[in-house]
Amino acid sequence: MLHFLSIIIPVYNEEENIAKLNEQICPVLVEFGYNYEIIYVNDGSTDDSLKILNQLADDEHIRIINFMKNYGQSAALQAGFDLACGDVIIPLDADLQNDPKDIKKMIELYDNGFDLVSGWRKGRQDNIIRVLPSKVANFIISHLTGIKLHDFGCTLKVYNAELLKKVRLYGELHRFIPVMVSIYSGGTNFAEIEVNHHKRIFGKSKYNLSRTLRVILDLCTITFLQKFADRPIQFFGGCAFILFLISLVTLILSFGAEFIYTFLVLFLVGWLFLGFAFTALLIGILAELLMRNYYEFSDKRVYKIKNII
Ligand code: UDP
Ligand code: MG
Repeated sequence: MLHFLSIIIPVYNEEENIAKLNEQICPVLVEFGYNYEIIYVNDGSTDDSLKILNQLADDEHIRIINFMKNYGQSAALQAGFDLACGDVIIPLDADLQNDPKDIKKMIELYDNGFDLVSGWRKGRQDNIIRVLPSKVANFIISHLTGIKLHDFGCTLKVYNAELLKKVRLYGELHRFIPVMVSIYSGGTNFAEIEVNHHKRIFGKSKYNLSRTLRVILDLCTITFLQKFADRPIQFFGGCAFILFLISLVTLILSFGAEFIYTFLVLFLVGWLFLGFAFTALLIGILAELLMRNYYEFSDKRVYKIKNII
């Protein structure tokens, strides 16, 4: 199948890597014989990355998006996705850790009719402090969301542009793009393939262990969106019910207490939990109102139609 490929590359302080990456990637794309574009997104680099990118811009296939400041990898990818003209979008890192040579086999797999082909860095070349939390995170994400992939964090993936363009990335949600694709577009026709991974030789990784907490928080958002976005009262109502039961049990226990001190503590805790239950219910009702706003004002629907026969 003939494609127009959009390669999206987020760049934050990668001055030593950009020219080498460009040298690697261009021959691979020319070899396909497809039409292609490469969009570099300079995410507020403070080194000479922009200068080097500007030198590449003479090539008619290359476009540069230059951010006002550092907005983060998700924003950089989103900007690239927004501008992409291809029918297939392929993001990859600028730090030479991904291997452009893998694109060929990924496209071949994609052509079997998949909406997404996900790169899996099976022989990942990062230290154990990076790899272990990432393995645990991938296991949890895959089990909680039902999307059976081994490597959500690998940037190198091949996406159906039409589906990807429905996705909106906030915060650091780039690690959850496959889940977002399934939430926003309903597509789950995903495949996975092993890809090469190289050690970072030049420049530094932009992340450290503190991202673990952020990934956990993002995972909460994503799981909530996936399961309850169009029915938040079911989640908050469930919480309210559990809190109400705790309150009821504590209040009943308080009346059987032998000592006045125990009675007072249980009685107060009982009322406190009743307050929590009421608050959870109110949040649920507010979330229902917000959800209606979201769907009705953006003219979105809670369902996605595959086709009408
Ligand atoms: N990146 C970016 N903005 C940021 C952080 C990272 O555009 O705020 C880019 C970075 O230049 C690289 C890619 O995102 O091309 C992945 O970053 P990094 O290699 O630091 O992540 P790691 O491979 O360590 O997970
Ligand atoms: Mg990297």
